This record gives sequence, structure tokens and C-alpha cells, in this order.
Amino acid sequence: MKVKINDLMNGSKINFDFTVDKIDGVSLKEPVSINGIAYREEDAYILECHYHGVIETQCVKCLEPLLETVKGDFQEKFLDSKSYSRYLSSLGEEEELEDEVINEAVNGELEIIDLVREHIILELSLYPTCEPSCDDTTMLEQYGDDGIDPRWQQLLQIKN
Ligand SMILES: [Zn+2]
Repeated sequence: MKVKINDLMNGSKINFDFTVDKIDGVSLKEPVSINGIAYREEDAYILECHYHGVIETQCVKCLEPLLETVKGDFQEKFLDSKSYSRYLSSLGEEEELEDEVINEAVNGELEIIDLVREHIILELSLYPTCEPSCDDTTMLEQYGDDGIDPRWQQLLQIKN
């Protein structure tokens, strides 16, 4: 789903509301629903977006599949390619970088799904684990760091 900045030039606002059932690098349990609005503000284009979905991940301890609900709202600012390159070159001259993140409207389009993907990946926990604890602790015991694996023990003895 993309919004063309040409469609926003005259001050129109574009509402969008759709679902995606596939996002690169993320395993979706349910389609992600995305809705929001795009509009022009001075020389920039603003995208306001809400998303909601359920992601399938895996417990880092017992490797059981886990479901994680992701949802959030974000607002992103875009510039057309010409203004964007001007903006980039102006960054070098200024002492302090602005906090604001600005996106390039590549090919004159605001790419919504890529942004949602970035937000989802940021939101997902790096080390998901079962709450409050894992049901199956076999893997934990097997790979726990209490002592040396007996298979290595033998090798160590040979080496000595
Ligand atoms: Zn677990």
C-alpha cells in the first residue's frame, strides 16, 4: 500500500484502511490491520498510522512458539526526493542534528508497509520468553550453563 504524493498536492487528505497478511522477516499469526491518514503540510507529507496485529515468535529458552500482540500509532514525515536530498546536505552543515526523522518519498510515494514493519520489529522483544515461566524445562536443563557438557569433558581430558 502506497500513497502517491501527487494525490496530496492539492491539499487532499487520503484515508487508508487495509490489512496485510505478509510482512518480510516477521511471522504473522493474524493479518496486521493498518489504518490512518496522509496529508500535505507545507513542503512535507505526513503519514499518521495505526497498526494492530499478532506475531508468532519463539521462546528463547524452551523454543515453544509464542504469540505477541503488537499495536501502535506513529506519525512520519516525508519529503519528495528533491527536498530530501537538500535536507540531507543541510544536515552536514548544522552543528546539531534535528531529532526529527524524515523519510524520502521514493518515486513520489509514501510506503506504508515498510514503516509498519520497522515499528513492529522495534516493538517486538529481542528475547521473548514464556510468561510467567516455561512449561517445559528440558531444553533449559540441557543447555543450561551449569558445568561443562560431558561430551566436552572427554575432549578436554584428551587434550590434557
Ligand atoms: Zn519458554
